[in-house]
Amino acid sequence: MVRHLTELEKLAGAPLPAASEIADIFRRDDTAKLKSAAEYERIMRDLAFGVDFTDHMARAVWTVEEGWAQKEITQYAPLSLDPAAAVLHYGQEVFEGIKAYRHADGSVWTFRPAYNAARLNMSNRRLAIPELPVEDFLASLVGLIRADQKWVPEGAGASLYLRPFIIATEAFLGVRAAKRYDYLVIASPSGPYFKNGFEPINVWVDREYHRAGPGGMGNVKTGGNYAASLLPKVVAHENGYDEVLFMDAATNTYLDELGGMNVFVVKADGSVATPELTGNILPGGTRASIIELLTDIGVEVREERIALTQLLAQISAGEVVEMFACGTAAVVTPIGSLTGTDFSVEVPSGELTRRIHDEITAIQTGKQPDRFGWLYQLAGSDR
Ligand SMILES: *Cc1c(COP(=O)(O)O)cnc(C)c1O
Repeated sequence: MVRHLTELEKLAGAPLPAASEIADIFRRDDTAKLKSAAEYERIMRDLAFGVDFTDHMARAVWTVEEGWAQKEITQYAPLSLDPAAAVLHYGQEVFEGIKAYRHADGSVWTFRPAYNAARLNMSNRRLAIPELPVEDFLASLVGLIRADQKWVPEGAGASLYLRPFIIATEAFLGVRAAKRYDYLVIASPSGPYFKNGFEPINVWVDREYHRAGPGGMGNVKTGGNYAASLLPKVVAHENGYDEVLFMDAATNTYLDELGGMNVFVVKADGSVATPELTGNILPGGTRASIIELLTDIGVEVREERIALTQLLAQISAGEVVEMFACGTAAVVTPIGSLTGTDFSVEVPSGELTRRIHDEITAIQTGKQPDRFGWLYQLAGSDR
């Protein structure tokens, strides 16, 4: 079976300049004040997720006159923002999430950055934000990693989480696309996203709220989708659930995805299914990589509409034997149960979820050969 690549996957395969060729596009400010040795030790000893940040950040500014300019690696510090900045009022914002991994020899690598660069521009187009050249996206990561290389942790589940984002910074309250934007990349040394490790999560299936609807922004990475997912998440947490699974907004019949992760179903016959990209689902790079990996090891993967009622019947009949969620931050996480207003089913756990997790992380951390060409070297060893 030949699977047609999505536009993002095609763009992700484009050749990229080597890091050394673009390392100076973002000029480093050598006067940046660094955190103390004690602070560094404290942060790196007990890695959280998204709590602590490195010494630097990457920054660029877009104006009508100059396009993207003022590219620099500068001190990590609070922003000075006009209270009328458009992002604060109308949410004109996009972001990405990507990780840097330290390999055993000390070198630092990232995973499919061209995919994230292409997706950032897909998000930019939807939010009427000017596109950022792929080379600038890549150069910002290279520049930041080379300034903050000591902050890339090593060890199981550890990485430097990178958060590129663009905000509308023009001071203007009229409703239209802004005429000034700031691009920033911040970095957070991180341990595993879920503190309990490879523990199955209990999922609330929400049919009251939706994260996105037809013609909305569900297929791009913007804060507004997350804002819409927070109240359902609060309610789910209060009722003892870890995450929320959203249904399609048009019919409330088919699975979309979790608030920030895509979802997969493993069948007893050995095949795997995941919701097809309807336009309301975020096209995850982890999702795309898992489809490629499974296809490569001979597992049949179907991208299709997955009806909730049918899924519940298949779980009860033993025809669905595993489910998992996936994304850059959490990698692969088993789903242990699904609960809604009128049902609650346990989902068994099995070996395929674990195997996918182990294979993806082994490639990312250099423990297994990169047979798909997914890795990009950001920096050589600093030891
Ligand atoms: C980022 C994100 C994902 C996962 O995408 P990856 O590229 O795998 O990190 C899934 N769903 C939503 C809503 C997201 O924002």
